[in-house]
Amino acid sequence: MKNTRTIHSIIPPPPPHFVGDGFRVHNFFPSQVEGGMTKTDPFLLLDYGSPHVFEPSEHLRGVDVHPHRGFETVTFAFKGSVAHKDSSGGGGIISEGDIQWMTAGSGVLHEEFHTEEFARTGGEFHMAQLWVNLPAEHKMTKPKYQAIKHESIPRYHDSHCEVEVVSGSHGNVKGIASTFTDIDTLIVSLKSGGRFEHECPSSHTAIVLNIEGGAIISDKHDLPVHHCAVLANDGEVISIYAKEDTRLLVLVGKPLRESIVAAGPFVMNTREEIMQAYHDYSSGIFGTL
Ligand code: MN
Repeated sequence: MKNTRTIHSIIPPPPPHFVGDGFRVHNFFPSQVEGGMTKTDPFLLLDYGSPHVFEPSEHLRGVDVHPHRGFETVTFAFKGSVAHKDSSGGGGIISEGDIQWMTAGSGVLHEEFHTEEFARTGGEFHMAQLWVNLPAEHKMTKPKYQAIKHESIPRYHDSHCEVEVVSGSHGNVKGIASTFTDIDTLIVSLKSGGRFEHECPSSHTAIVLNIEGGAIISDKHDLPVHHCAVLANDGEVISIYAKEDTRLLVLVGKPLRESIVAAGPFVMNTREEIMQAYHDYSSGIFGTL
């Protein structure tokens, strides 16, 4: 007999803030979760850009050049599009429905902006950025990108449910993204009256973000749109019922249980490694852009 996981907390969207001048986000964690990055291990941060209309602009909105080291950033463009450029000469566009899984590893220097086309037309922008920790042994891995196109994401279907399996697995469908540890990243579209169930070990961290619609989670808790649920570690099944047509981002990860020292754009295991990151950054090891 498998048990349904209960709820640790349901978090309403905190007041938004701007990252640069292009990303209007609600930070669900670490700021809104007691225990911070340790509670959501291996996930470090979730910035959610609920739908926001940007007026057409000559000026490109976004975040100027900044570094990262020691973790991965996963950017979801639900609506609107993001252009990125980095110090290795890489760059590209995250179009509507696409996902970018960037392994910062030993270090990247990058910028993130609205695309020129989006700036020109303006419109609704809806996105999320997740930070995934890297285990100590992979923190200094070579940086890489996985540019995941919407149409390339493997899908699980039944009569009332479609699951885009970005990483890990759901049912017999395997995800497309490679990860360093055990992580299920699922985008779930449920028809009104439909149910989604996902099995995972009770020790794994599980987080559900409602990006559209309305749902009941763990049989009895309301999960309104733009709310985020952190599940308790007390069962093997995540269970969600859709009160209307609903879309959810479901994140499940095996905790690393390593020490976390986070400072701005760097997340390492020790103070010394953070000092080294600042030193390497200021001495130009991350390259130029
Ligand atoms: Mn960044």
